[in-house]
Amino acid sequence: MRDNCGRDITYLRLSVTDLCSFRCRYCMPAQGVPKRGHGDICSLEELAEIARAAVDCGVRKVRLTGGEPLVRRGVLDLCRQVAAIPGVEELCLTTNGAALPRLAGPLKEAGVDRLNVSLDSLRPDRFAHMTRGGRLEDVLQGLRASAAAGFTGTKLNVVLMKGFNDDEIPRFVELSRLYPLEVRFIELMPIGEGKAAQFLPAETVLEVCPGLCPIEGSGVARRFRSPGGRGTVGLIEAMSRRFCARCDRIRVTADGKLKPCLHSDQEIPLRGLHGEALRRAIREGAAAKPEAHRMTETGRSQAGRNMHQIGG
Ligand code: SAM
Ligand code: SF4
Repeated sequence: MRDNCGRDITYLRLSVTDLCSFRCRYCMPAQGVPKRGHGDICSLEELAEIARAAVDCGVRKVRLTGGEPLVRRGVLDLCRQVAAIPGVEELCLTTNGAALPRLAGPLKEAGVDRLNVSLDSLRPDRFAHMTRGGRLEDVLQGLRASAAAGFTGTKLNVVLMKGFNDDEIPRFVELSRLYPLEVRFIELMPIGEGKAAQFLPAETVLEVCPGLCPIEGSGVARRFRSPGGRGTVGLIEAMSRRFCARCDRIRVTADGKLKPCLHSDQEIPLRGLHGEALRRAIREGAAAKPEAHRMTETGRSQAGRNMHQIGG
């Protein structure tokens, strides 16, 4: 599936809920979000049908996200259904990790290939403050449980925030030296609750840890390794080094809207469509991807939704 700029679209990020067990300050409003009626979000069958149609159109990699995907009842069944679609080469899941102590094993058995776990601080007090009540120990336990369940290539998503976790950069880099993880430093984006004042360019990581050696990049990340390190460091620089030319993804929200670009308010409703009509809507949506986001110029995302309603 090619878009109008010649990019090959092979990656679907499918949001399964906009609810979450955390309320990270840069992602969710303090009061949380109202629980929507059953009929307002896609059923598991609708989500699986959308994934199947996207694969028919050329998608090879599917990521389940949210909100927090592991709070959605039936998520394991959805994983099984998506993993079984012929043509899915990789099924990934992005999670806050809090439910992994219980669910890492079942997710592996359900056919999930890889996990991204979000973790913005290694200090319990800071972690609880940023997530408004999350327990760091649950996420660390979840990481251990996912390694024990056989997950490899796990990525740790760290959103860099000035005055919040910049002093922890060396500790995170050290984690990537000790463990076979990719620690991904993500630039804070001015979307939803994300505040421009806290922005810190990911390049800072290289200034703080000059010993990091560049290695081959992957997808949208620049990658590095500490000499002798077991894992790697990735920089996701959506703001300071726009990677739109390499973007290969489309997104579908839990209420069934295809978003050709994270930072555009363009949305194509997919609910109620089946068969060729659904495939046509997906192809047309992918084709309509804007060439690039304009956050760097405007200082604000035009997404029209908060991050927990899209999935990152
Ligand atoms: N709840 C899951 C989690 O936290 O991993 C999945 C959904 S969350 C919206 C996906 C990713 O988006 C997380 O890594 C989160 O840190 C990131 N994110 C949320 N708001 C962001 C923002 N304003 N800028 C950059 N990344 C953001
Ligand atoms: Fe929830 Fe993930 Fe948003 Fe944090 S970043 S509030 S864990 S959806």
